[in-house]
Amino acid sequence: MVVRCQNEKFSGILSINDTIYCIIACSNPLIMKYSQIISSLEESATLGIAKKVRELTAEGRDVIGLTLGEPDFDTPDHIREAAKKALDDGFTHYAPVSGYPALRNAIVDKLKRENGLNYKPNQIVVSTGAKQSLYNVILALMNPGDGAVLIAPYWVSYEAMLHLVQAETTIVNTDIDSAYKISPEELDAAIKPHTKLVVFNTPSNPTGSMYTREETDALVAVLEKYPDVFIISDEIYEHIAYDQEHVSLGTYASIYDRVITVNGFAKGYAMTGWRLGYIAASVEIAELCEKLQGQCTSGANSFSQMGAVAALNGDMSTTTAMRDEFLRRRDIMFQQLKEIEGVKVILPDGAFYFYPDLSAFLGRQTPQGEIIKDIDDLCLYILDEEGLALVPGTAFGTQTHVRISYAYATDILEDGVSRLRRSLEKLIPVEVNA
Ligand code: PMP
Ligand code: GLU
Repeated sequence: MVVRCQNEKFSGILSINDTIYCIIACSNPLIMKYSQIISSLEESATLGIAKKVRELTAEGRDVIGLTLGEPDFDTPDHIREAAKKALDDGFTHYAPVSGYPALRNAIVDKLKRENGLNYKPNQIVVSTGAKQSLYNVILALMNPGDGAVLIAPYWVSYEAMLHLVQAETTIVNTDIDSAYKISPEELDAAIKPHTKLVVFNTPSNPTGSMYTREETDALVAVLEKYPDVFIISDEIYEHIAYDQEHVSLGTYASIYDRVITVNGFAKGYAMTGWRLGYIAASVEIAELCEKLQGQCTSGANSFSQMGAVAALNGDMSTTTAMRDEFLRRRDIMFQQLKEIEGVKVILPDGAFYFYPDLSAFLGRQTPQGEIIKDIDDLCLYILDEEGLALVPGTAFGTQTHVRISYAYATDILEDGVSRLRRSLEKLIPVEVNA
């Protein structure tokens, strides 16, 4: 195909991708000036909306946000004390790239004890948050054009990271009838000859759904048919599981070599700001991640790591107490959300999110006479009308839902649900003439 382009970089015979890029680039000078990939990357919606709430609050607006996936508890005392002691003991230097042996050993013991997973210390790489762990793995595995399968609703950053490596992502949509879980048949149909990676996240952000053991058995039977496909198992919400056991994919011997277990300290131990996560994987993948991390960020924070050792080896009662409090909030919130007419919601099995379907409100008219066109519009309206910030489902690959985090104190949650109810009740159905 011959394309004329104002930019001398593009002329002559171009591939389809270059043609598309050329058209976009000519209409967007930013993309020519800076990196094409970063310029076209979406901002993290979860972090972006939390930032917006902080800005509006600073301006004096009466705004609350049920947006962020961050426990509202402080890190337990014994973990903080261990990090303080580490500072006094001189843990102020560069840590080994993959993490201190004490932490990697504690992770090996934890994975065996809590998850039934068999790893050795040289299979563990500690990183600056599970986010970095995930990105390390994706960079280590994927070449441009390789296929990845995401199950929608999916956590926002998986898609962005796959975009950064120019993967070809296949999105499998799930719905409320299947509790937002993929069936073995859907998984089988989604895996194509070029598929290299499937990402699982149980308990799920944003739906809170968990795969049962029977469901996992059936999915693993499909994965066994595709020996060249790697599997990320993001287990960061494992400790916030209410009604059923958490199943780790790496416990299945038939796929063990291809599973990359990703976990971290942010959710289970209320350590979001400590920025620590880890992978457990084959030695080959661990070595690739170590090499990559050594060139990009080096070892994770030294004294945070000593806090993490205390978290893993210490008393779990604070983790259990936080989980019990999330459970109490879940049950209260569920009753209240169910009572709002038009809201379709399921009881989440884990994590700390509701993911209600608000499709009934799309197309309705606001008191100001505007029509709510889509879910982003609806979230903006709720924010403007009642000062309640929620994350629109578009961030998670769906068009009719919102994510509500209940990692907030009960009074804030009750205020939030009241604001939601008031804003939705004000919307006027529009008669469609036949
Ligand atoms: N995976 C999921 C599903 C998450 O919700 C998050 C957000 N915290 C992460 C990974 C990243 O966690 P971290 O804060 O350890 O980077
Ligand atoms: N994972 C959390 C969330 O989904 C924290 C924000 C982020 O890392 O994106 O809200």
